Amino acid sequence: MDETGFTPIGLSGYRGDSFLNGLNAVAKWALGYLDSLEDRDVSQEITPGEILSKLSEEPPLEGVGPDGWDQLLGDVESIVEPGLVHWQSPRFFAYFPCSASMAGVMGELVSSVLNVNGMLWSTSPSATEIEMRMMDWCADLFGLPDQFRFDRAHSIGGGCIQGTASEAALAALVAARRRMIDQGRDRTTVTLYTSTQAHSSIVKAAMVAGLADTPEDGSRVRLVPTDGQLRMDPRALMDAIRCDIDAGLTPCFVSTTQGTTSTGACDPLNEIGENLAELREPQRPWLHVDAAWAGAAAVCPEHRAMLAGVEHADSLCINPHKWLLTNFDCDLFWVRDRRALTDSMSITPAYLHNASSEDGGVIDYRDWHVPLGRRMRAIKLWFVIRHFGVEGLRAHIRHHIELAKLFEAFVEGELRLEQVFERVLGLVCFRVVGGTEADGRTRRLIERVNGRRRVMISQTVVPLMDGAGETRDGVIARVAVGSTGVDRRHIEELIREIGTVLDKGVE
Ligand code: PLP
Repeated sequence: MDETGFTPIGLSGYRGDSFLNGLNAVAKWALGYLDSLEDRDVSQEITPGEILSKLSEEPPLEGVGPDGWDQLLGDVESIVEPGLVHWQSPRFFAYFPCSASMAGVMGELVSSVLNVNGMLWSTSPSATEIEMRMMDWCADLFGLPDQFRFDRAHSIGGGCIQGTASEAALAALVAARRRMIDQGRDRTTVTLYTSTQAHSSIVKAAMVAGLADTPEDGSRVRLVPTDGQLRMDPRALMDAIRCDIDAGLTPCFVSTTQGTTSTGACDPLNEIGENLAELREPQRPWLHVDAAWAGAAAVCPEHRAMLAGVEHADSLCINPHKWLLTNFDCDLFWVRDRRALTDSMSITPAYLHNASSEDGGVIDYRDWHVPLGRRMRAIKLWFVIRHFGVEGLRAHIRHHIELAKLFEAFVEGELRLEQVFERVLGLVCFRVVGGTEADGRTRRLIERVNGRRRVMISQTVVPLMDGAGETRDGVIARVAVGSTGVDRRHIEELIREIGTVLDKGVE
């Protein structure tokens, strides 16, 4: 206790015995939790407000102190766990995975202990330089062209870790707009293009950037139609761009998706890139590639076709936090010309001036996104890559794709189901047969399968072609294989659960 009567917290939170006890207690809890996932249901019945009601309305006056780890973890068990959907369950097949790993957890822990703010190179050179190296490693890992790397002679490209693909889309859009303004073009006539199947984050980026007032506002945003496989129609894209140019507008940004959220469709990136390259400069819009989920599979050379044409891109993002064993959050974002990005984000108040930045020889990652302060996310990625190695990561992806094929074979052989699109990597989309009844039956199948809580799958609505060649929106079910611990027996359980619900009837 000091003269003010206060015991300085200082490093007492890290006092050897207490810290070790805490680490041991957390490790014991973590192992118990992860082991329990094999048996636990994926989701639980809970009503809104139930978790809230377990928490006192006021913060505690007295803390539990350095020996209170068991009390805190007791609360995790009794308050937190009952309100979770277990995303790390091997029977979680909904949305896209959020894959974690032991190496990722350790990396997060190290990063939390260091807890540096890597906003500038000078505020922690390791934070910046490890991240730069990881971005170049990952460019290698995914077979990306040299334009995205820092470590090539005369490079003006490079990458950084963003929190999410949505943040990457916003960064790409403002960089595109900045480039356009630097070309002396009219910022008030900007238009942007993505497909009707793109993730909502692209339109959201337009909303945040002031280019759309609502999700439906099409005054600047063009949603390009897709083909029967839900891939962007390259001709329709070029028609829309040319039409806007003729109308005196300024096409600024095109975003393709390699692996759409609903069905995993991959836009014809090469053709789109070649078409855009034919536009006279400065009419060529910025080309962003959103490979948030599917991009992870590019660690395997046999799955790189989806990125064919990526050399035409100005920016690209892939999320290792979805399918590459790297705990939340980790989106890799590369740009061909980092100046457009940093010019759009850089502002230097007096308190951030420093000699290294002024010399211009360093990367200051605060200029690559909206936040100033930034966590050292690269450490967990570094741990993951060093732990598994390139071959380990490839084996992980290949294993999941083989498991998805098992599920696909079940759908193919089950007369009450139809596979509506080709499987893409670990994603299988299907619905219940039944003509005009199919939507209702599919919805009920998903609800009832999830209601049994042993497995979790998800739904979406996409344009489907009916027998008469007419297209209309239809409900489909999605099974995305990607949880870290998933294995054959979990796929078998998924198949049994779906079979049981079908046997009971989904009328
Ligand atoms: N892009 C695609 C293709 C996605 O599937 C998703 C999410 O599933 C996103 C972007 C958004 O990802 P994030 O949560 O990282 O913003």
